[in-house]
Amino acid sequence: MSHSTIENKLNPLDSMMKRFDEAAKIIGLDDAVYNTLKYPAKSLTVHLPVMMDNGKVEVFEGHRVQHSTTLGPAKGGIRYSMDVDIDEVKALAAWMTWKTAIVGVPYGGGKGGIKCDPKKMSKGELERLTRAYAAALSDFIGPDKDIPAPDMNTGGQEMAWIVDEYSKIKGEFTPAVITGKPISMGGSLGRVEATGRGVMVCTRSAIAKMGLRPDECTCVVQGFGNVGSISAKLIEMLGVKIIAISDITGGYYNPNGISVSDAMNYSQEKGNLEGFTGGSKVSNSELLELDCTILVPAAMEDQITDKNAANIKAKLIVEGANGPTSANADKILNDKGIIVVPDILANAGGVTVSYFEWVQNKMGYYWTEERVNRRADRLMKSAFDTVFENSNKFNVSMRTAAYIVAIEKVATTQRLRGTY
Ligand code: GLU
Repeated sequence: MSHSTIENKLNPLDSMMKRFDEAAKIIGLDDAVYNTLKYPAKSLTVHLPVMMDNGKVEVFEGHRVQHSTTLGPAKGGIRYSMDVDIDEVKALAAWMTWKTAIVGVPYGGGKGGIKCDPKKMSKGELERLTRAYAAALSDFIGPDKDIPAPDMNTGGQEMAWIVDEYSKIKGEFTPAVITGKPISMGGSLGRVEATGRGVMVCTRSAIAKMGLRPDECTCVVQGFGNVGSISAKLIEMLGVKIIAISDITGGYYNPNGISVSDAMNYSQEKGNLEGFTGGSKVSNSELLELDCTILVPAAMEDQITDKNAANIKAKLIVEGANGPTSANADKILNDKGIIVVPDILANAGGVTVSYFEWVQNKMGYYWTEERVNRRADRLMKSAFDTVFENSNKFNVSMRTAAYIVAIEKVATTQRLRGTY
């Protein structure tokens, strides 16, 4: 079997490949499937000229990668960030392939991104950029081809522009081309909370396996966007004490517990947590190393690395973000006996409810929030249990077990489909 070359510095693609290689080796994955899954099936890079408010045209680079369509149409979000590059999008697309396979929703994996700084753009500029991207991708995506969704710095508004643009181009209202839409445009109840809810379900299952009661656990949450804030809120509702939170302005620590709803109200009103008095200020690196039971990194990639992994005191890490732990930290965490519920399982609640949204769009029949939550919780719990059982069966970390479960599912179907 050939294996990818791992350089010293691990970008998200290296980190993904390192885990993929490890799991592939354990299950003795054949070269045919290994080499197919090593590369994305299709990628598209576009350059989008956009008229800025000052009358000048700026050209933005965007990507859409379909890593695999073996189990169904490609599925995955679109992010807006200055860090977007093709390697990052490729890694994120592959993670979606594994994620959808783990929760058992009938999709492959895809991802998109535009290199831009949305905080520096007006609403009009963002709308023109988003519509330009949707138009450029209109033959690449589709309800049975590739279905985007929100990711970092995108949400309901961007999805609404994309449905609108795509529907105009195709001449028919096509809500199933994208998920994470506003409710009035065919969005699903429960979708906004879905990723955080899945993080909570994984946390609940993991602490039960560890023989801990929620009220004897403390939790630190890094990141206070959609995933971080809702994870914190729902984990708090389990009875766990949230002792620290953070956002772009830094960390806020209170050993007596932080009121997550106070923090959410504050951040909603002020735009971020700057000046929040519910906790004392700590740096981002101090935050990750706080003494706690549960750490939920829900911000961005490569936060836990070989530089700080040895100092992490949490007993359990539940990865709300995609790729928050770089591959060179895995062994350090394992050796310390820290249980890591990996991103491709822990944050799969979002794509699970995206699937329900797509099903509802295809049926034209909309479910209650209670039904959405009940079904999502069931899928997440069963995915957690399967990964946990495999981690015992193969005597590997939950991360490696998650890759094993995902790769085996995709490989089995790929063999059935056959090759040229
Ligand atoms: N962007 C989210 C993720 O990384 C959701 C993707 C989706 O719903 O398709 O899982």
